[in-house]
Amino acid sequence: MAAKITLQVLKKEKVTDKVFFVTFRPVSPPIISFRAGQNMMLMIAPGVNRTMSIASPPSASDILMVHDVSPMGPGSQWTVGLTVGDQATIVAPTGGVLSFLDTPKRKVMVATGTGIAPFHSMILDALEKKNETPMVLYWGQRYEHDIYWRDEFDAIAGAHPVFSWKQILSRPTPAWQGLTGHVTEHVLHLERDLAQSEFYVCGNKAMTEEVRARLIERHVPKEQIKTELFY
Ligand SMILES: Cc1cc2nc3c(=O)[nH]c(=O)nc-3n(C[C@H](O)[C@H](O)[C@H](O)COP(=O)(O)OP(=O)(O)OC[C@H]3O[C@@H](n4cnc5c(N)ncnc54)[C@H](O)[C@@H]3O)c2cc1C
Repeated sequence: MAAKITLQVLKKEKVTDKVFFVTFRPVSPPIISFRAGQNMMLMIAPGVNRTMSIASPPSASDILMVHDVSPMGPGSQWTVGLTVGDQATIVAPTGGVLSFLDTPKRKVMVATGTGIAPFHSMILDALEKKNETPMVLYWGQRYEHDIYWRDEFDAIAGAHPVFSWKQILSRPTPAWQGLTGHVTEHVLHLERDLAQSEFYVCGNKAMTEEVRARLIERHVPKEQIKTELFY
């Protein structure tokens, strides 16, 4: 059940020109119970709150937030202004539509930008639980300078054959050797057994709606498509 929780900022890192990782320690109560794929609501100011995915797995003692501050609205300004030692109030856990269904169907995750956050939690959680269901991640970003967690996902894929991932850039430089364009096309092109897979889609409205519509066109049952819109 969602409860009011006080957190303290343990660490704040700027990982690209617009993305911050903020690590919080729960202070009161000192433990947060949640399911991988759930969110927290940041209480920014009276009457102002913003929902954020919890990017750390439920087993971690600290809470990781991955925040794209490019909109620079109240939520972004709050994160930019945070300092180690600051306290924050959240209500958590909330939501959870993306949490993996407990079935043996292949899990296909599709993210753009910081839509990666819930999947980071879900992938780590599934591996910790020694879940044998195949998982594949398609992660779309724009430019080379937007990249983070590449080494981490490569290392996870190297250590766990059950997980694989594709990085896709929509606006890379000519030097980029990887996949280009939009995530949707790569999912439809590379995934073989669409109707026997489950799809977990997180990011902006245009991408999530397009993926859903194109999968339904290809006869994927609606209950096998879970989407979360960030904005
Ligand atoms: C369920 C859920 C989970 C979320 N989890 C995360 C998360 O883990 N990490 C994260 O970075 N954000 C996440 N968001 C988005 C976050 O809640 C805020 O919307 C975002 O941080 C912008 O807040 P703001 O106050 O700075 O801007 P606002 O004043 O709220 O928004 C300003 C404008 O920017 C648009 N916008 C919002 N986000 C973006 C973006 N990334 N790029 C471009 N335009 C944008 C809004 O639609 C609006 O038009 C999540 C949203 C939801 C609904």
